[in-house]
Amino acid sequence: RGKAYQFMLRTRQPGGFVSNKLYLTMDDLATDFGSGTLRLTTRQTYQLHGVLKDDLKSVFSTIIKSMGSTLGACGDVNRNVLAPPHPYKNRKDYVHAQELANNIADLLAPQSGAYYDVWLDGEKFMTAEKEDPKVTEDRAFNGFGTNFEGSPEPLYGAQFLPRKFKIAITVPGDNSIDVLTNDVAIVVMTGDDGEVCGYNILAGGGMGRTHNNQSTFPTLTEPLGYVDKDDIYHICKAILATQRDYGRRDDRRQSRLKYLVHSWGIDKFRLVVEQYFGKKMQPFKPLPKWEHKNYLGWGEQGDGNLFYGVFVMNGRLKGEGKKMLRHLIEKHELTVMISAEQNLILCDIKPEWKQEIQESLESVGYVDYEKSDPLDVKSMACPALPLCGLALTEAERGMPQINERIRRLMTKVGLPSDDGFVIRMTGCPNGCARPYMAELGFVGDGPNSYQLWLGGSPNHTRLAEPFLDKMKIDKMEETLEPLFYFFKTRRASAEESFGDFCARVGFDVLRVYTKAYVPP
Ligand code: SF4
Repeated sequence: RGKAYQFMLRTRQPGGFVSNKLYLTMDDLATDFGSGTLRLTTRQTYQLHGVLKDDLKSVFSTIIKSMGSTLGACGDVNRNVLAPPHPYKNRKDYVHAQELANNIADLLAPQSGAYYDVWLDGEKFMTAEKEDPKVTEDRAFNGFGTNFEGSPEPLYGAQFLPRKFKIAITVPGDNSIDVLTNDVAIVVMTGDDGEVCGYNILAGGGMGRTHNNQSTFPTLTEPLGYVDKDDIYHICKAILATQRDYGRRDDRRQSRLKYLVHSWGIDKFRLVVEQYFGKKMQPFKPLPKWEHKNYLGWGEQGDGNLFYGVFVMNGRLKGEGKKMLRHLIEKHELTVMISAEQNLILCDIKPEWKQEIQESLESVGYVDYEKSDPLDVKSMACPALPLCGLALTEAERGMPQINERIRRLMTKVGLPSDDGFVIRMTGCPNGCARPYMAELGFVGDGPNSYQLWLGGSPNHTRLAEPFLDKMKIDKMEETLEPLFYFFKTRRASAEESFGDFCARVGFDVLRVYTKAYVPP
């Protein structure tokens, strides 16, 4: 064996769907080749940490032969496509969002056979699912007048994209996936008959930024327009081609689509996209207010079966909990969905299995989410140290204790024990756990040190803003106590959440109050 280099491997799971077979395979691989744990990510995929270089081929080929894939999970291509981890079988829009996530993932997947050459010695492994003929047909027109036709990558060309590219699909009102934080957000629109008729398209969101570089920033998508049902693949390719040809390649920190949209403005961006699209987009259609949904606990699928959303702290499956989940999923041949909040939704549960599943999960600590601290349920952390080479400080490992300290502080200032708000923590400003959408966000800016972001909304539609730099984590209570006390005494009502409160009173007032605070 060579040097023991180890790797992190990420899978592709459009809409977070995981077949029964793939779940069992990933569970085995984590035990046999990984660190023994599996991580559910904020983009509805798996991350497998600690795979040794010499084992990579065995692991990749096993995943591919279990109908899984890692193609496009990393690199300057379209990444995993998000969709609500809905288990509803009787909602055409939700079912369509899942199908579309899969089709767009296929459409925008790299076409070169290199992936199969490397991991399967050239054997092209066909999945059991038949590709949508429209995807096949649309892929043939990928070049948009460029000279990429005939190339193994008719859409990406030799250079691929300037940077990664992220798409999310949802239905009106469902913001279970932080839909506005993606390069492209697609909202499935239905007519009065409940049939899918077209899509609202938004563009230009993204989380990553760099400390001390004001030209980098997190931002949310802006409405771009509406397209008819038949045009969805073409508009996706038109947006991607616009970014391919005009996105900056001279500076990786300025190369995401959001900077192109920001520098041009959404109107010019739309005009250029329309040149690739070949016609004008229709006006964006009105949407209802976004609601945050977590799909945790018991629910009905609409086909007589049940689903059960299991709250998984920071998405880390390990120990007895991992073993029990595997046992239940194997025994009942369940399919699974990974949520964009790193939780696991067990699907296709017959009502007569409900009690056994609930009791079995409780016996290993997976209590119903309503019995968990809402701070834990609403929090997310990225892996950070020791697993991510970019991490400046802790996130996943520190989060449980941070939440406990925040709960103690809330109790001290008299905030109710069932009060909870969105807390997110990352080890660097890349923002993998989307801390800039949090009501209270911690962004690592040095060893044991964090930038504090405040003011995101409970339904994940408003960006937080930076309140403080370089907060040493052992000074957290000193920083947060005045804010929590102010929140407790001045909140507009018991329903006003911490993020809404911070956004309403404003940072100037928060700063004045914090400075003048004398503990009671
Ligand atoms: Fe790594 Fe930074 Fe992403 Fe965390 S946010 S996983 S530290 S790149």
